Amino acid sequence: MLELTSSFPFRIVDHHLHTRWSDGSLNPADLVEIARQKGYRIGVSDHAGPRQTGIQEHNFDAYLADLGRYPVYRGVEFDVAYGLTFDSGRAAELDYVIGSLHGVMREGQYRPLDGMFAWQQRGATYVPDVDLSDPEVWIGEWLSILDLCFRTTPVDILGHPTLTPILPLDPDPEKAYRVEWEERLCELVVEHQVALEISGRYRLPHERLLRMAKDMGAIFAVGSDGHHSKQICDLDYPLEMIDRLGIPPEQIFNVEHRPRRAAAA
Ligand SMILES: [Zn+2]
Ligand SMILES: [Zn+2]
Repeated sequence: MLELTSSFPFRIVDHHLHTRWSDGSLNPADLVEIARQKGYRIGVSDHAGPRQTGIQEHNFDAYLADLGRYPVYRGVEFDVAYGLTFDSGRAAELDYVIGSLHGVMREGQYRPLDGMFAWQQRGATYVPDVDLSDPEVWIGEWLSILDLCFRTTPVDILGHPTLTPILPLDPDPEKAYRVEWEERLCELVVEHQVALEISGRYRLPHERLLRMAKDMGAIFAVGSDGHHSKQICDLDYPLEMIDRLGIPPEQIFNVEHRPRRAAAA
């Protein structure tokens, strides 16, 4: 396990973890034990997505009650293009909410980004899920999805921020993304005070973007996105970046000491 060389006034929280409540392979109790061994606090953020698995209105109470039996923070991960799967007023019963891009809407229908995830998770040849003939068009759609989501949904953390259909275009993320796109993303998260997740599982965002976000005053959240035992609390990349960039404690999302973010409108 990596240790931060800088001293933090609070324990690092791994906010992004999945259990059998969605597509993880472990129970909350297993996660608590792994986190205890590694010395982190954790939050559970099971999927609340359109595929009918995971957290929906009908099992929201049971999920909260189950997590309430353990020393964990209670979150969910929903899809930023689709929106919440439960009444947004109920988000206040959670400790925090992660919004991530997993799909896009086409003619009112949700379309998962299967090509992107197959490339990222299984090393499959990339088959783009959106039209990338003019990447600016996709970037415009992506940033409008985020802008609308931040305005209408009480989201605290943007999960795996640069895992979008642009990323597979070049093995070097600094070439796949352009600086001006990164600027527009950073402006959005700073304006809405949504924390940028530094993902242990996907080892992103890349350093150039993180450095810009830090200089612009963004807040960062740490997440392993662990689904299976080896991934749980694998925070090597986020901690390496916090250290290397000298991200100060006041720019780290802290579920215990912060006002809860509300949707802008
Ligand atoms: Zn995700
Ligand atoms: Zn996740």
